[in-house]
Amino acid sequence: MKPLIVANWKCNPQTLIEAKKLFNSLKRRIKNIKNIEVVICPPFVYLSILGVSTSARRKAGFGGLASGSQDCFWEEKGAFTGEISSLMLKDLGCDYVILGHSERRRWFGETDDVINKKMKKAILVKLNPIFCIGETKTEREKGKTQNILKSQIEKGLKKISKKEIKNIVIAYEPVWAIGTGKPCDVKEAQIMGLLIRKIINRIFSRNISEKIRIIYGGSVNSKNAAGYIKEARMDGLLIGGASLNPQEFIKIIKAVKKS
Ligand code: PEP
Repeated sequence: MKPLIVANWKCNPQTLIEAKKLFNSLKRRIKNIKNIEVVICPPFVYLSILGVSTSARRKAGFGGLASGSQDCFWEEKGAFTGEISSLMLKDLGCDYVILGHSERRRWFGETDDVINKKMKKAILVKLNPIFCIGETKTEREKGKTQNILKSQIEKGLKKISKKEIKNIVIAYEPVWAIGTGKPCDVKEAQIMGLLIRKIINRIFSRNISEKIRIIYGGSVNSKNAAGYIKEARMDGLLIGGASLNPQEFIKIIKAVKKS
């Protein structure tokens, strides 16, 4: 399977003009890169720049580029002021949705139960969830990492069937590594990847645990990117800060391609 590189723009950039500039710059550079799946996840309001159907994207010559959302709501419609449903995102042409990001857990109080509801609905409308899990610095220091990952996976994937799990990508994102410039050691990331496969094996099956895509996120840059693919055996990367810099982002993609 092709490595998956996901750009999480978070709440950036501040204007539509800048968003267009960033996207066009990425699009131009990505055009000739083959065998890597690149997903751009801008804020909702900019999605319409990329939110065209996959076939239209292909026609426009940037078929290798997929679009994703940074969140979605679990109901399809109704009196839920401010929410964006997974169905709306699918209709706009989104392929992926990031769910359970630590910033949503931290700043918006998202619980495992809420994440699980969103996950189920996203799968139902054929959006592929990028399910983020990871321990905080304190949890790590207290030796709780394994239990945290186990609990987040069990609760987040509650009542997800063996068929449905195939649409999910798991992103191991240690919270202490996100946006801190302190990436997880490659060896440690490899151990966490194996631990996640072990948990998936116990809940689902060996076959599923071997096939599910696990990606790494947390202070990835062009210097450390290849190590996560080659040594830690990750299936891809989730990139925040560095995805806002087109030159650096392309360097990461090229490093992954070479690895
Ligand atoms: C993220 O937001 O998921 C992330 C990995 O951010 P950064 O690359 O900036 O650490």
